[in-house]
Amino acid sequence: MAEGHAVHGMAGRLRQLAGQPVRSSSPNGALDAALFDERVVADAQAVGKHLLVSAVDVPLTVHLHLAMDGAVSVRRHARALAGAYPRTEPPIHGNVAWRLLSATHHAEVTDPAVCELLDEDGVLALRARLGPDPLRDDADPDLARRRIQNSRRPIGALLIDQKVIAGIGNVYRAELLHRARLDPFTPGHDIDDDTFAALWQDAVDLMTLGLGAGWIVTDEAQMAAAREVLVRGERVPRWPKRYAVYGRAGKPCPVCGTTVRAERMGLQRLFWCPGCQHS
Ligand SMILES: [Zn+2]
Repeated sequence: MAEGHAVHGMAGRLRQLAGQPVRSSSPNGALDAALFDERVVADAQAVGKHLLVSAVDVPLTVHLHLAMDGAVSVRRHARALAGAYPRTEPPIHGNVAWRLLSATHHAEVTDPAVCELLDEDGVLALRARLGPDPLRDDADPDLARRRIQNSRRPIGALLIDQKVIAGIGNVYRAELLHRARLDPFTPGHDIDDDTFAALWQDAVDLMTLGLGAGWIVTDEAQMAAAREVLVRGERVPRWPKRYAVYGRAGKPCPVCGTTVRAERMGLQRLFWCPGCQHS
C-alpha cells in the first residue's frame, strides 16, 4: 500500500494540472466526473493516504483513496496541443475511474478503493477523523501525542492507526521504531514527551526524504546520498532497498546482530529486533 510520502507525490503530480481547464470523465462510471468537465483544476492535496482534488467554482471535492491496488498516473503530452484539450480521447487501459485531460497533461486514476465527491462538510469530517500528517505544514503533533499517551495500545499499533498519525504505513512504522530503539509493544501511555517528539521529528524527516526521493529511504548512508542528489536538483536513483527490520524476519539486525522477528499486529506484520528495541 502507498504510504503517505507516495500519496503526497501523487498530489504533487496532479497539481501540474492546476490552473488549467480539463476534460473530465469516468470511463468505468465510478465518479460523476461531468462536474469537473471543462472546469479549471484548483488544487490537489494529500492528507495522510487520502487525496483531495478541487476545481474552481465547483462546490464538491473529489476524494480518492488508493488502498492496495489503486494508482495515479500523470503524463505530459508528447507534443504541445493547439487547443485546451486533446481532440481525441486516448484509448482506455485498465479500470480507469477518473481521467483528466488538459492542454499539457493526461492524468488517470485506476482501481481506487474510494472515488467519490465530498461537500465541504464531508471534507471536514474526513479531516477530523484523521490524525496529523507529518508531511503537512498544518499538522498539529500535539494531537498525535495526546492520542498516543491516552492509549494503552502498543505504540506499534498506534503508529499505523490513521486516526493517530495520518500517512505512516507498515514500512515506516517498523523502521521508525527500530531507529528509535523502541519496543513496539510499549503501551502508548508509557511514551514520554521526549520520545514522542523524537519519533515525530524522525517521521517528518524520513517521509520528507521519501517524498523527495520517490521511495522509502531509511538507511543512514542511503539517506545521506539521497540528500546530496536532491540538493543538486537531480532524481534519486532506485538503489536496492536497505531496511533494518522491515521484511527481514529471521535475518540479523544490522545494529546488534539479534535475529529480527515478525508478528501480526493489527492487520499487518510487524517487524522488530528484540535485541536492541527496548523501552
Ligand atoms: Zn538489534
